[in-house]
Amino acid sequence: MKCLCCDRPDPEYSFRVLEVHTLHVRDFDGEKLIQALGEEKVLSVCAACVSEEMRASLFPAGRILRACSGFGGLVLAGLVMTLTLSLRDVMSALRVIGPMAVFVGVSGIAGKVREILKVRRNLEGMSEDGRLKACAWECVMKSAPKKYEDNDITYILIDEAEKLTPEELAMKHNLLPPIASKAYEVMHNVR
Ligand SMILES: [Zn+2]
Repeated sequence: MKCLCCDRPDPEYSFRVLEVHTLHVRDFDGEKLIQALGEEKVLSVCAACVSEEMRASLFPAGRILRACSGFGGLVLAGLVMTLTLSLRDVMSALRVIGPMAVFVGVSGIAGKVREILKVRRNLEGMSEDGRLKACAWECVMKSAPKKYEDNDITYILIDEAEKLTPEELAMKHNLLPPIASKAYEVMHNVR
């Protein structure tokens, strides 16, 4: 077995997961979901990747900077637009675009920063063991495939989901009721 993130052999952290494939189909009645269970898999990551994830989450300056750079471009473009447009006599409808871009950029930055700091706060509240596990799961989720052809792939963490009823499974993982029952059966070996 190899680390899902860096291919290093014999990774230290492993998770049993059940894949869920979801296809969004649009027809006359709106959007429909077609869902099926995929394979049961073991996804693993190495200690080096986990400690890097932990460092980046607990000291998130780099992450915040990266989040800002995307939205920062938008703020800048908005500012330039606002300034140049107000110099000339343009239609007022056009003038709205610049400030709007600034607004979207600034709220984007604020939202991202809040999200990043929330992850840090959550980790700080955990035991060392829980923190490592949470970061390992985060690594897995970042690297695991999200798509198979047109299907979205999501993952049910078996050790955690085993304790849930089919209804709770459906809620937590956005499963259609028959798929939630099937997942429950697979996890509890009821056949
Ligand atoms: Zn690794």
